[in-house]
Amino acid sequence: MGCYFCGGEVTGVEHIPPRSFFPKGKRSELITVDSCDIHNQKKSKEDEYIRSILLHSIKLDEKKEVEELRNTEIRALKRSVERAFERGITKDQAKEVMDIIEKYEDDPIAGAKAFSEIESKGIMNLGLMGLLNKDTREEIIIGRDGENIVTASFIYDQNRLNSFMECLARGIFFHDLGKRWEGRINILPHTFLKEDAAQRDKELSNEFLQYFDLSKAKGAQQEYFCYEGANRMNPMTSKVDCIYYNFSLFNTFYFTAIFPFSEFGI
Ligand SMILES: [Zn+2]
Repeated sequence: MGCYFCGGEVTGVEHIPPRSFFPKGKRSELITVDSCDIHNQKKSKEDEYIRSILLHSIKLDEKKEVEELRNTEIRALKRSVERAFERGITKDQAKEVMDIIEKYEDDPIAGAKAFSEIESKGIMNLGLMGLLNKDTREEIIIGRDGENIVTASFIYDQNRLNSFMECLARGIFFHDLGKRWEGRINILPHTFLKEDAAQRDKELSNEFLQYFDLSKAKGAQQEYFCYEGANRMNPMTSKVDCIYYNFSLFNTFYFTAIFPFSEFGI
């Protein structure tokens, strides 16, 4: 049958989602699919980036079950900075770095702003730490007791997030239905839907969110990942016009993958 994604030569298996999305001790009975090189090892950098984005989210604060993953994540970020220094920096670069650190001395999100500026000025390549502080901005959010909390936002790469979700969706389709989906996929990134998204996208998102029934969800370690899928009946024609899968990552991030038949109106 070939690779779950492209049908190419099978050289190994890919975990859906990647193993690194589960803490140690919670990695039994994970879903695997046959895969080629490109859709397995070669995407591990992508997996790391997306995992970092998700684990960075304030939505996961106070979630005990992701604590270990977040600690691992912080270590990975620190290592990316260490590696930048190990590659060596010149005296001039060191001075520029020190100036930036001084500039943000009294800033509540000093670290994030410093990393952001060091990266954007090209003084050093901070790897993952640079990516996770891209164009950092200060944000004020309201805490549980009505207090103001100063936090930071950053710009993430939406295309990379989409292609990660597409891999995941194709993997689940392959695993669940035993065949490869050869058509296109629409991803509805509910948790990441922008406020200024097109009206049609918002309506679709609302519709498919209603179908979420996680009590029927499948997946071995459901607090980290679970999914459920069904056929969707078109209300106008009463015909099945797509297959969809709903996903939850860390019980926090929800998205739907739509596998549209030609009757599907988008
Ligand atoms: Zn492939």
